[in-house]
Amino acid sequence: ARAVIEAIDPGKDVDGFHYHNVGALVVGEPAFYPCTPWGVMKMLEHEGIGVEGKHAVVVGRSTIVGKPMALLLLNAGATVTVCHAKTRDLPSLTRQADILVAAVGRARMITGDMVKPGAVVIDVGINRLPDGKLCGDVDQESVAKVAARLSPVPGGVGPMTIAVLVANTLRA
Ligand code: NDP
Repeated sequence: ARAVIEAIDPGKDVDGFHYHNVGALVVGEPAFYPCTPWGVMKMLEHEGIGVEGKHAVVVGRSTIVGKPMALLLLNAGATVTVCHAKTRDLPSLTRQADILVAAVGRARMITGDMVKPGAVVIDVGINRLPDGKLCGDVDQESVAKVAARLSPVPGGVGPMTIAVLVANTLRA
């Protein structure tokens, strides 16, 4: 994987995988950033949801979503907690979130009792149910009753990812 990543021209690296772009993200410099988390930042910005000073909790630490999501939120001035499969007592952490980002890959695992009333919840998950329908990592029904804002699945982060990918490709 490393050889493939290093073979990419950083200036054409529209999903921000090359170490040059990963490094720029860590440092907080402009670069190509992974499209899904960058799309989430654009969603928050578009909806007028400020990030600075907020407690953002990211569930998932993958290279493509969770980690860059945490870095982007940190760079934007949030206080960031990153949770993953080894995290103990996940609900006690998710309940502290002003902004909760679910990028786990487990259908409807974030339920209403895990969310602080009035929180902004971003559902990155795309999971296929046995009946063929798509659903996110957030249990939309129970969380919609508690959260102030909740991104839908399908029709939320997925299309934003594609839009950002097209924009990055144009830029490249
Ligand atoms: P990965 O499988 O690479 O990562 C999942 C992460 O979730 C890991 O960090 C894992 O922890 C963590 N995790 C797994 N189980 C638990 C648990 N029980 N409690 C807490 N954390 C847990 O997935 P991706 O990041 O690639 O994708 C996540 C989801 O987002 C998927 O549903 C995927 O389809 C979707 N996705 C959507 C995109 C879009 O455009 N909307 C784009 C990319 C992904 P650990 O590291 O400890 O194993």
